[in-house]
Amino acid sequence: MLSILDIFRVGIGPSSSHTVGPIRIGVRFMARLVREGCMADVARITARLEGSLALTGVGHATPRAVAYGLLGFAPETIDARAAEAALADLHANKAFDVAGHVIAFDPETDIIFDYETLSDIHPNGMELTAYGKTGAVISRQMYYSTGGGFIASRRQLLTPLPDDIVPTTVTVPYEFGSAAELLEICAAQNMTIAQVVYANEDAARPRAVTDAALDNIVAVMMACIERGLETPGVLPGGLNVNRRAPKLWNKLNNAPPSNERESLFDWLNLYAMAVNEENAAGGQVVTAPTNGAAGIIPAIIKHYCSRVDGNIIPEKARIFLLTAGGIGLLYKQRASISGAEMGCQGEVGVACSMAAGGLAAVWNGTTQQVESAAEIGMEHNLGLTCDPVGGLVQIPCIERNAIGASKAVNAARLALHSDDVMRVSLDQVIETMRQTGLDMSTKYKETSQGGLAVNVVAC
Ligand code: SF4
Repeated sequence: MLSILDIFRVGIGPSSSHTVGPIRIGVRFMARLVREGCMADVARITARLEGSLALTGVGHATPRAVAYGLLGFAPETIDARAAEAALADLHANKAFDVAGHVIAFDPETDIIFDYETLSDIHPNGMELTAYGKTGAVISRQMYYSTGGGFIASRRQLLTPLPDDIVPTTVTVPYEFGSAAELLEICAAQNMTIAQVVYANEDAARPRAVTDAALDNIVAVMMACIERGLETPGVLPGGLNVNRRAPKLWNKLNNAPPSNERESLFDWLNLYAMAVNEENAAGGQVVTAPTNGAAGIIPAIIKHYCSRVDGNIIPEKARIFLLTAGGIGLLYKQRASISGAEMGCQGEVGVACSMAAGGLAAVWNGTTQQVESAAEIGMEHNLGLTCDPVGGLVQIPCIERNAIGASKAVNAARLALHSDDVMRVSLDQVIETMRQTGLDMSTKYKETSQGGLAVNVVAC
């Protein structure tokens, strides 16, 4: 089983597949050169981007991410100022050094955008090549950024996985490869989804370490909301999109107290947009389960897992994350959370489903109601395309997170008001999402070749 800490990763914007993944690929390639003992012979490195990484890489800041990875910055710990300075040096010198050994890499010419090649195994391909002094290839590796910051080598993607369970070195007490199996375990053990996931996490590390990691995830999410609320201005990338969260924040704070029922939408919109505007600006966010869909889960936590004074209630937030994370694992293991494979149903749709399930659990729903909430959260996002204008994670992404947050609440409400077994199961809707994603034209899968991307002129 994967860990839910693989689903919720701290990283930087604007994209988990196009920014976080390529950084991790760069780090992994450099570690491989060291492991193989050939780093001292490397004179130059090039990167070739395929498929969606080539088509929307510029808007998603992939070239910057490739450079950060080769320079040794990890997404979880990146210091934005140090990384910017190192990148400026790289552009000036067209080379960087690894423990005193100089390697040529010009970000302008050594990152090749291969628009023609579309891999048969994953649309986010990235090949790194290390050359020696004579120009001979020393090492060439093909990697894939598979969504949510996950990466895989070609060999890993081609190896079939038994029963949809991704093998790791940790043996967990309650392996599950489907929602049906998860519900069976809950029923047999008289446990909630959160308790099952907790027990599995306990196999990897002490409970206190898991709790600290979950609390840190929430803290990073809340800090992201705060920065988003306080940072006005225009988002980078050339679309001239204004940040809207600070204005709305002021408006809501200065408005006279009211019992207007619709104000729920205002607050959810505000928090979700604050996160996604930070993400679009390259700020620190948590994949939930991806960067593009990073606003929905923090918005729900902020609104429903906090006290009146705004402070988070850790126990509630943990139950929310454990449940939402367990649901996220099902999508990751049975389908995909990559916009380039599934369209936006695999990003915002999955986040909505995870949030709906998590919220139903926080509201003390039964295991069946939690499953139903997650199912409803996805059912009404099926077919959602990915067509970002200008290849930037801004339009429709920022508003889409706001809409996704209120949809998640509505899905949880619908599920909690029903005791019936739903006609559509979570497994069925995940499989439907997968098939719909496979059938969807590549125009609508993070290539900016269709939909809003061609009907809204980016200038
Ligand atoms: S449209 Fe959805 S999947 Fe595509 S970049 Fe935006 S958030 Fe991600």
